[in-house]
Amino acid sequence: MAQEKERVGSVAGTDPCHGCGVCAAACPKGCVTLARSREEFWVPRVDAAACVGCGLCVRLCPTHTPIPRETLHRKVLVGAAAWLKDAAELRASSSGGAVGAIVEALAGEGYGFCGVRYVPERLRAEHFLATTPEAFAPARGSKYIQSLTAPAFREMLRGKDKWLVVGTPCQIAAFRRLIQTRQIEERFVLVDFVCHGVPSAKLWEAFLRRAAKGRDPRRLDASWRGKARGWQDAYVLRLTDDARGTIYEGYASENEPYLRHFLRRTAQNLPCYACAFVGTHSGADIRVGDFWGERFKANTAGVSRVEAYTARGAEVWRAAATWCETEPLTPAEIAAVEARMPLAEPPAWGRKTFIRLLGLPGGFAWAHRWSLIGCAWARLRRLFRK
Ligand SMILES: Cc1cc2nc3c(=O)[nH]c(=O)nc-3n(C[C@H](O)[C@H](O)[C@H](O)COP(=O)(O)OP(=O)(O)OC[C@H]3O[C@@H](n4cnc5c(N)ncnc54)[C@H](O)[C@@H]3O)c2cc1C
Repeated sequence: MAQEKERVGSVAGTDPCHGCGVCAAACPKGCVTLARSREEFWVPRVDAAACVGCGLCVRLCPTHTPIPRETLHRKVLVGAAAWLKDAAELRASSSGGAVGAIVEALAGEGYGFCGVRYVPERLRAEHFLATTPEAFAPARGSKYIQSLTAPAFREMLRGKDKWLVVGTPCQIAAFRRLIQTRQIEERFVLVDFVCHGVPSAKLWEAFLRRAAKGRDPRRLDASWRGKARGWQDAYVLRLTDDARGTIYEGYASENEPYLRHFLRRTAQNLPCYACAFVGTHSGADIRVGDFWGERFKANTAGVSRVEAYTARGAEVWRAAATWCETEPLTPAEIAAVEARMPLAEPPAWGRKTFIRLLGLPGGFAWAHRWSLIGCAWARLRRLFRK
């Protein structure tokens, strides 16, 4: 019997894994949960005794059953640069606050909201559900760590409620396939974002241990994208303690080490180095991102880039745009992003060792030194090649 289950298949042992959590959300027996891999990314654990081997998890899994590229490659139906009219809300958002505008538009249509908040006591980011824009406030701001999706995803499959779901492109494309399979697509509006990949939780936890300087890291709230120093390339990473306020602040412009490793993709999840969801490859109705580049170089408050790919996405964005100042994307800007193909870049030099070192006492400092050696080595190699 055990062998028969093996033949039908389950996602047991999937590693590397996107960590989208759709297997755990969908399992009809509830026998798939998510646990941390050796490198500390979310991977599925299957209760073999309870598994009936139906294979649904395998069919939904973007690692085992890649989503056909042609179904992901989207046309931009509406493209815009946008920023919230409300200055306080804009300051609290990572880019131009396009997600906040979409939330406001859908609140009027009776939607609930599924997005990511940071949970200090568990040192992790989690998808959560909210029924009002106010209750969704903890979702504001990018959390540069991998989120745990499955409990919230599973909850939304129940009942008949309508949901806006925001997540990384792999989470959203996998979730799209799940709701298609269940034939409940009309209950959802899906939003993803241009994604730099998610780093190992080992990096975050090792960093926290160092930055907390003896305090309990589970008492520290975190924000990764403060705008105190402006917006483009001006990320501020801040840790705050209820009693003492800010206890750590670091700036990307000054090579703050956590942001440096995030931006250099030193310890991203392995599938991130071969991401199938770049350009306009997406399972979402709307994709948002930072509007980097010359056009808004002087802007210090934040500008979102918004691309609607479906008729529903275009309709939602037209309603959301009333909360924003907007400018259209030029045809050249749209053509450039539509032409971008899936990513294939090798993982960072020494990535495996870097992640291993993070597990040692004082591991963040060791791993950081190791990556500096890697950078020097890469520079030397470039020099010899010239
Ligand atoms: C890990 C990560 C990497 C990113 N890389 C890029 C990039 O390279 N280029 C670029 O242009 N934009 C990138 N973004 C997107 C960008 O930072 C903004 O999140 C996006 O433009 C939305 O901005 P906003 O002002 O509308 O949203 P905000 O109001 O700040 O809301 C952000 C939304 O993102 C969701 N979210 C936050 N953290 C996570 C997470 N860890 N996993 C899943 N969902 C999350 C929240 O639920 C929230 O709805 C990245 C975001 C993340 C989380």
